[in-house]
Amino acid sequence: MSTEPWTAGDRQVVVIGSGPAGAAAARELLQHGISVTMLEAGLETPRGLLVRLGGRNYYRRVPPLREEVQHCVSGDPRTKCFAKLAPGGLTNNWTGAVPRFAPEDFTEGERLHERFRWPISYSDLVPYYEKIERSLEITADRRDVPQLPAGFSSHQNRLPDDWLNFQRVANQHGQGFTTYPLADGPPNLLVLRGTAFNSYTGIVRPLTRSAQFRLLTGAQALHLQSSELTGKVDAVVYHDRKKRSTERLSASAIVVACGPLGSAKLLHNSVSRTFPDGLGNSEGLLAPFLHDHPREWWIARMARPRKVPSPAAYLTRLPYQLSPPLMATSWTLGTANLQDKIRSRFGLRGKAVSVQLLGTMIPSECCVAKPSATTKDEFGLPALDVCIRYSDAEVDNVVRARQHLLNLMDEAGSRSTLDEIDPTLFPGTSAHYGGTTRMHAKPRYGVVDAWNRVYGAPNVLVCDAGCFTTAAEKNPTLTVMAIATRAAHRLADDLKRAQ
Ligand SMILES: Cc1cc2nc3c(=O)[nH]c(=O)nc-3n(C[C@H](O)[C@H](O)[C@H](O)COP(=O)(O)OP(=O)(O)OC[C@H]3O[C@@H](n4cnc5c(N)ncnc54)[C@H](O)[C@@H]3O)c2cc1C
Repeated sequence: MSTEPWTAGDRQVVVIGSGPAGAAAARELLQHGISVTMLEAGLETPRGLLVRLGGRNYYRRVPPLREEVQHCVSGDPRTKCFAKLAPGGLTNNWTGAVPRFAPEDFTEGERLHERFRWPISYSDLVPYYEKIERSLEITADRRDVPQLPAGFSSHQNRLPDDWLNFQRVANQHGQGFTTYPLADGPPNLLVLRGTAFNSYTGIVRPLTRSAQFRLLTGAQALHLQSSELTGKVDAVVYHDRKKRSTERLSASAIVVACGPLGSAKLLHNSVSRTFPDGLGNSEGLLAPFLHDHPREWWIARMARPRKVPSPAAYLTRLPYQLSPPLMATSWTLGTANLQDKIRSRFGLRGKAVSVQLLGTMIPSECCVAKPSATTKDEFGLPALDVCIRYSDAEVDNVVRARQHLLNLMDEAGSRSTLDEIDPTLFPGTSAHYGGTTRMHAKPRYGVVDAWNRVYGAPNVLVCDAGCFTTAAEKNPTLTVMAIATRAAHRLADDLKRAQ
């Protein structure tokens, strides 16, 4: 193993992963004068094609989505563990939906148990939400609606008029109906990638102009190393795919942002005398509380034609006080096919809308991401065993949500029926895992604290959706980026004070 000499002063931070979480953290550290070396397992960003005209995406070819890390699956055998080992991570493939969490999303779990109490609130994140939103070029409606606070958006969009009666009916049920906030970029775009915003091209690549930033691609972190003398974590050991060698890079602090499964694996593999069960695992919490978004997709056929919403429309969850704690669903309504997209451009009507449902899971000890007892990865380290299964209540929540939408359509004067349902109601299809390194004010309930610092190893931060204490029904990435930025801001302040 070779050890790289320390060159960038005492304040260098190693950020692991160039997905949106790592990118947001790295940018914040650099803006505060902290040197960053980013380790990224992937070698290059995959190609795609995006053709966007007049605020609508007409053609989108994303790179193939695969399970690029071989995890084991021991719960629902259909479980998917999608990963993109490439600069930009899963933002090479994502849709770009960026709703903010609502204030209650951070508090409603308390109705169930203290372990579901987030140590941060919505107002803690507001400045960081806005900072991130300003770099995502979002199209949205700028008005708050029930259960969905509006954020900063670069482009304004309103729903077509003939959905206003549906909006009124939704409001009568205490729900909001609005334009889905999407990081869709400028109205006209032709790029050789599959998504308008990608955390590599959007954030990391511009950082490479800074003398304080270094990006090492093909650098797969294997484990974090603790000093024999002090017990403090002081280095990352990684495999260099280009040199085919094992390298050691020392660091004064480390930001782990490999995605909720990748980060859990890295911490499990970081065993030392001080952390015999893995880093952050002294309370046995680095495994349970894995959660995901039960997701399904189908087409609703409407008896009465309407202008098809493009960009997509979003029906928010039922009010908190009317729902069991942590049980919710959101509905995204969009164009069902290219024909309808073209129709929508000219204000014409269609009779079909595509519907994506995202439900929630109540994080529990039954769903875990733990080291496999039998299977090793390509480096001889234990593979990650992903054990997750939806409960009957979680499946039922989604099934009831189908009917709820049809009832609202009916009330709004447009009887609708369901087409065949895409059979995706099994774990992993939304690629929205979370909870593996949950944050909590007390170490007995959390792996990291309110500033994403690992209990027992405060110079290690875990900044992806692994830190979610509970799952809201909203897409996670904007909140992940806001949390990562906030954590990096605090880390930068602490490093500067320690000088
Ligand atoms: C088809 C699809 C659509 C989606 N749509 C949306 C959406 O509309 N809205 C939304 O909010 N979310 C969406 N998501 C999810 C979103 O992409 C993820 O939430 C987000 O990318 C997670 O960011 P991350 O930085 O935590 O992890 P990732 O994006 O997974 O990035 C992790 C990075 O770490 C690197 N890495 C992993 N392990 C190591 C290691 N050991 N050493 C070094 N580097 C490592 C990887 O190569 C990768 O670059 C979608 C996902 C998919 C697949």
